[in-house]
Amino acid sequence: MTTEKLGHLPGARGTHNTRLVSHECRVVVYNPRFSQSWLEKSLSGRIYDSPRFFYALAALLLIAGALSQLRISIPTRPIGSVDEIAALKDREDLNVIFVLIDTLRADRLGSYGYERDTTPLIDELGRSGIRFAETHAQSSWTKTSMASLWTGLFPPRTGVLRYDDAVPPKATMPAEIFREAGYATAGIFRNGWVGANFGFNQGFETYVKPQKREVKEGFEKHVPGAATVPGTDSEVTLAALEFVRNNAHQKFLLYLHYMDAHQYAYEAEFAQLDYGSTISDSYDRAIRWTDANIDQLVAELEDLDLMKKTILVIASDHGEAFREHGIEGHAQDLHIEALRVPLIINLPFRIDGGLTVEPVTRNVDIWPTILDMVGLPPLPSTDGISLIPMIQAAAEGSSTEELESFAFLDLGWGQRNSDFQPLAALQHEGRKVMVELAEPEETLMAFDVDADPGERKNLKGGRPDWIEPLQAKMAEHSEAETAIGSLQIELDEMYRAQLEALGYVVK
Ligand SMILES: [Zn+2]
Repeated sequence: MTTEKLGHLPGARGTHNTRLVSHECRVVVYNPRFSQSWLEKSLSGRIYDSPRFFYALAALLLIAGALSQLRISIPTRPIGSVDEIAALKDREDLNVIFVLIDTLRADRLGSYGYERDTTPLIDELGRSGIRFAETHAQSSWTKTSMASLWTGLFPPRTGVLRYDDAVPPKATMPAEIFREAGYATAGIFRNGWVGANFGFNQGFETYVKPQKREVKEGFEKHVPGAATVPGTDSEVTLAALEFVRNNAHQKFLLYLHYMDAHQYAYEAEFAQLDYGSTISDSYDRAIRWTDANIDQLVAELEDLDLMKKTILVIASDHGEAFREHGIEGHAQDLHIEALRVPLIINLPFRIDGGLTVEPVTRNVDIWPTILDMVGLPPLPSTDGISLIPMIQAAAEGSSTEELESFAFLDLGWGQRNSDFQPLAALQHEGRKVMVELAEPEETLMAFDVDADPGERKNLKGGRPDWIEPLQAKMAEHSEAETAIGSLQIELDEMYRAQLEALGYVVK
């Protein structure tokens, strides 16, 4: 149970400025002697010994399984095809719900090949919608990544790279476009890095942290750091349920930013999942808990008959490392485990069997795609593009030109007195380079990601001829001027204290 302050380093879990010196983690349990859950109760006592009990239980589970499948595929939601995406532009009744699950690496989802059933609901959304198999975030730190995601610009063009950078008012944010078009707009978030003072509220009529509620008995947080964000993601879900009930009569854009996967946090029932006892197992339980929250939201949308007029997007701002390259957490490098995230777009109609888009896509493509889909004006001069042609190509089985996946991180993002320490990465056509721009020779890494998707073997020694052109493209993106100006904010004392309490800003 030991953690160690590292002062000048960005931190083993990036946002916490602490490094684990053992595999153990600090466990916060509100009441470690929590009462038996319904599951435990139902499996205890003499009835447990009866074969009849097992038959009854099996039958119940089958019925429950069938019902839960049916619940996703509501009869009122028609079956459609990719060709019908074009007609969405003409509809006047569409809602967009954008669910951002902080710190969700793609390969921990069942539909992305994981052996555990961590995401039954999200997988179902993919099976009846569009799943992008290889989406990359543009940074491994929340604020830089989210600024790129919302503006469709690569990080150097947003200028949002350090702890005091904010999205300038000059930026056009998707919520502004939706609001202009008459949508009700609301954002509900628990991560302070996307707060209003950093400019992320632009266009949202309502932009709030959810109301604090009593934390359920037995709720656990397994965070290898000094402090945690208070509350739980059920606060986001309950606020979202209230919003959709109150706004069912009008078109809306709703942004939900879930945080418990970042904190390896979950309700007591999820502690009983037979996943093992490592910190990585806790992360999986937190993902399963987050999935259950979204399940609750989808159930409500179905009850309100809103699924047939809602585009539901599931995305993440970055992944999470478990020592694949020696570190734990995120916001410290740009290896694949920190960048590869899920992306699912569930349409107002079901695509039977779902559609998978295999080529590389980027988080900067999300809003150009959604705005195109609903027929709203595009964001200005984005690096991201609408993925609709790629979706159509996937449906037809034809190929498209591969997109350049660029990522960027200032390694000194959280430190007031640190120099700019840019790390950049570019992946294109199965090859990837990553380099600290101040020391290119020493730090260069080059991977053949088709042959080596885990980025284990640095090929720079052999000097293959693809390294130089990739580095040149990477330099071009890295040196680009900001497209929206720049803005640094003075954090007020209370906010600074909150972030510092979380290990976010080194004094
Ligand atoms: Zn994050």
